[in-house]
Amino acid sequence: MSELLEYFRGRQDEMLELLTEMVKRESFTRDKAMVDRLVDFLERQLNSLGADAVQRFPQDEAGDFLKATWNINSSGQPYLFMVHIDTVHPIGSLSSMPIRREGRRYYGPGALDMKAGLVIVLEAIQALRERDQLPDRPIHLLITTDEEIGSPQSEALIKALAADCALVLVTEPATKEGAIKTWRKGGGKYELIVEGRASHAGIAPQEGINAIIEFAQQALEINRLNDLKYGTSVSVTMVEGGSAGNVIPAHVRAHIDTRVLTLEAMDNLHAALTALYPKMPGATVTCARQHGRPPMERRPGLFEKAAAIGERYGVTIYEAGTGGGSDGNFTAAMGIPTLDGLGAHGDGAHASHEHVIIDSMPRQATLVAAILLEW
Ligand SMILES: [Zn+2]
Repeated sequence: MSELLEYFRGRQDEMLELLTEMVKRESFTRDKAMVDRLVDFLERQLNSLGADAVQRFPQDEAGDFLKATWNINSSGQPYLFMVHIDTVHPIGSLSSMPIRREGRRYYGPGALDMKAGLVIVLEAIQALRERDQLPDRPIHLLITTDEEIGSPQSEALIKALAADCALVLVTEPATKEGAIKTWRKGGGKYELIVEGRASHAGIAPQEGINAIIEFAQQALEINRLNDLKYGTSVSVTMVEGGSAGNVIPAHVRAHIDTRVLTLEAMDNLHAALTALYPKMPGATVTCARQHGRPPMERRPGLFEKAAAIGERYGVTIYEAGTGGGSDGNFTAAMGIPTLDGLGAHGDGAHASHEHVIIDSMPRQATLVAAILLEW
């Protein structure tokens, strides 16, 4: 066992204490006031951790964002930690999923995804700072509050900050088996609007253009774009249309969820969806992309380097991929080396049995600190 791992094992109780402070401040994405309470707490925390600058980015809808920087005057190319503190659990979830410890497991809403990940980052930075071993380059920590809804507000800030970074580190949860995430699918939501013409279904059905019938044909065509073997899924997930039981419907609106493995697949799918054309004379069809994240494609050499560093510090890591996205998708697609899934091990993210494997926290703090030291 490395000295560093031994050190962080000795810090396990302090790490859990900080985790509890975060988990007990519930932070459902859609409740800005509650999220901001956690932001207030973290702003104080960051100032006491000796950051050279702590900046708050006020938001209208989402909770405020925070950026902390250490070694602000270093001339090296910066590293960027990305963490989100919002959770999918509505306020009040603590009563049905109270904070509790059972053996090696720590339960609580948002504990795994990804408040434990923030604890790991803060521990690693603090330890290296106390040893005067922070790498000679600016270290940024960006804390955002809208990741669970696709980061509509934070995307621009993430990209601007990552643009000149040498490395991005994301402490999203590892997989259930403890592997870091070397690829993630990308996803985009599309809205399909079909317009026909309304008419009385009894008096003049022939004068109407039935938007539902047009939509039905589009839905089948969209469904044919699925290519599951290559990781592409296209799902019509919601639909609304029609105005009354005796009226030929003039409007349909539908949502389409898309998932892809590669940027190429994303582009091809986008081309196919935006080229949809009406089958019925007089109908119109438009399909437009709403918000989404590009895929994080596996980048050869990244995992291998992280794994070699981990080994030297007594931490063995594995790799895996996932269909779910993270903010690492944005930075990876920009071509910035991005290590994702460096956070705690556990299970039940987004579910009522969400929990962290407690002894993975010192382990992952060791890995993160080792990467800072050796990258
Ligand atoms: Zn997350």
